[in-house]
Amino acid sequence: MSYAVTLIPGDGIGPELATATQVVLGATGIGFDWDVQSAGEATIATEGTPLPDRVIESIRRNGIALKGPITTPVGSGFRSVNVGLRQALELYANVRPARSMAGVESRYDDVDLVIVRENTEDLYAGIEHRVGPDAAESIKIITRAASQRIARYAFEYAVRNGRRKVTAVHKANIMKLSDGLFLESAQQVAAEYAGRVEFEDRIVDNMCMQLVQKPDLYDVLVLPNLYGDIVSDLAAGLVGGLGVAPGANIGESAAVFEPVHGSAPKYAGQNKANPTALILSAALMLRHLGETDAAVAIEDATRGVIADGETVTYDLGGTAGTREFGEAVAGRVRASV
Ligand code: NAD
Repeated sequence: MSYAVTLIPGDGIGPELATATQVVLGATGIGFDWDVQSAGEATIATEGTPLPDRVIESIRRNGIALKGPITTPVGSGFRSVNVGLRQALELYANVRPARSMAGVESRYDDVDLVIVRENTEDLYAGIEHRVGPDAAESIKIITRAASQRIARYAFEYAVRNGRRKVTAVHKANIMKLSDGLFLESAQQVAAEYAGRVEFEDRIVDNMCMQLVQKPDLYDVLVLPNLYGDIVSDLAAGLVGGLGVAPGANIGESAAVFEPVHGSAPKYAGQNKANPTALILSAALMLRHLGETDAAVAIEDATRGVIADGETVTYDLGGTAGTREFGEAVAGRVRASV
């Protein structure tokens, strides 16, 4: 059997990273029927938009997409492709694992966190206005439906991936109604998983301090949009930065997997950029498809190549190219499956 997957190579370094990632995925022995869709800078020139409808239709049809980074043209009036996809496909959960890797310089060597961020409401609902010349108001929306949906996603992720604990992060001591509703919703969902997954909650400021001091105490975190945005970068920083950070945007009927970093235009076409984040995003895609063994094989192979240090890209202190790194990971995957 093979999986039909939309592939958006993206701009800048995106196409090279996508090719390296396809080589790694091919090494798992799983079949992929790639539906390649261009989006971004190239389609602005030819189709007048960075996100043509055919791209959204392809993802709707296949239910799954692997996406390279896309350049957001400054001041052009085009909305970000990422925001467009999130809205069109109702990708309500943003998932970012942050796990230490030997060979990537960072403060700790035992961090293993998964940040699950609500992606549709909170202060990012975009409801804000000026109140006269000297004041502005931004409205924070929290609903039980969206809060329960994200909490359930976090618990299901924990169950599927053998994680022990979910921590809900909030500021319900101050925002008693909005964050209070988020916390209450998470507690209601947690009750359904009692005995299977532990549950606790933390106030967001305390959470930040604890993550910096004792990240090993935490496992899966579930957060409203704004705290999730901030804490996921904090967690990426704990394991060596955005360059190796994978991500997923999940909806009820579609999911888009992509690296956290951008299109790094200055390295485009030079066989220089590090494909780790896209390769690990592809591993997240395999987990989502239920292909856990293949996902683990790719994660272990990537970690192995980085720990070994002989075939790593410039940003990890090596001289290997994108292609060579991808081939080294693929070689290890092939040997392990
Ligand atoms: P960037 O992530 O592209 O680059 C930041 C720095 O990290 C640069 O020095 C870059 O060379 C380096 N870098 C990034 N990815 C790398 C990799 N895989 N290997 C080695 N080095 C890497 O961020 P930026 O410069 O702020 O943004 C460039 C463009 O990307 C902008 O147009 C921005 O809007 C877009 N962007 C897109 C996404 C996305 O599509 N998800 C995310 C962030 C930024």
